[in-house]
Amino acid sequence: MSILSRQLKKTCPYYMMSEKSNEEEWYFLAFVITSPCIDEKAADCVETCPVDAIHEGEDQFFIDPDTCIDCGACEAVCPVSAIYQEDFVPDSEKSFIEKNRNFYKS
Ligand code: SF4
Repeated sequence: MSILSRQLKKTCPYYMMSEKSNEEEWYFLAFVITSPCIDEKAADCVETCPVDAIHEGEDQFFIDPDTCIDCGACEAVCPVSAIYQEDFVPDSEKSFIEKNRNFYKS
């Protein structure tokens, strides 16, 4: 664990521990946009995000997990309830977590 990670672990309220991880594995949670966004693409979330973490893909919007500060503002304004905190994405929508990550790998 880096010095920065140790500092975040001590001080940042957004630094959460995964239910699946052990005590030494910490990560920064992000929000994820799921299937109701496809073809809807209302984009209310883009204007709301304070850190410009939401970007347009071909068929939906995506949230950059490295930029998202987990504030929840986008979830509140989405007209089709497509946005969830990563740990609360419904089972039927879990594939969108990987789809979101892959968008930022390319
Ligand atoms: S949770 Fe907040 S920071 Fe993250 S994408 Fe939504 S509005 Fe942006």
